[in-house]
Amino acid sequence: MAARISPEKIEEVRLATDIVDVVSGYLSLRKRGKNYFGLCPFHAEKTPSFSVNPEMQIFRCFGCGAGGNVFHFIMRMEGLSFPDAVRMLAERAGITLDEEEVSDEETREREALYFANKLAAETSTASNSTRRTVATPWLTCAVADFRSTRSSAFSSASHPTAGMPC
Ligand SMILES: [Zn+2]
Repeated sequence: MAARISPEKIEEVRLATDIVDVVSGYLSLRKRGKNYFGLCPFHAEKTPSFSVNPEMQIFRCFGCGAGGNVFHFIMRMEGLSFPDAVRMLAERAGITLDEEEVSDEETREREALYFANKLAAETSTASNSTRRTVATPWLTCAVADFRSTRSSAFSSASHPTAGMPC
């Protein structure tokens, strides 16, 4: 299912989640200075080069270069997509994601797809030499409609869409 979680919700989940807490569920971390260190779960190593910065809420491995925020960690650790990682951490933090946001986005996607298909159909019926001028009559008409609502001074002779199927 195509899904979209609002940036506000993603930020809410991120702020409600402690990356040290999450990472500690997968490997043991030891505090050294401001950071926590542990054996990297993404490459084989015997000395810890995997670090977690609680202040910035990010992780970084100096051995294999893996890094990112808590969502990236879960994505890689659990093999999840970004939205699924957000869902998992939202559930963990007791945050309900707005499902209406998802269906709204699906509606917008369907609309975008509809207009893309409509435009493609108009374009494909035109020959190569005339494609440029006939591909976007609806756009020209839309501009003309906009202008006519702003000014009645446009004479039909100077109307930019004279001859267009408005
Ligand atoms: Zn690593």
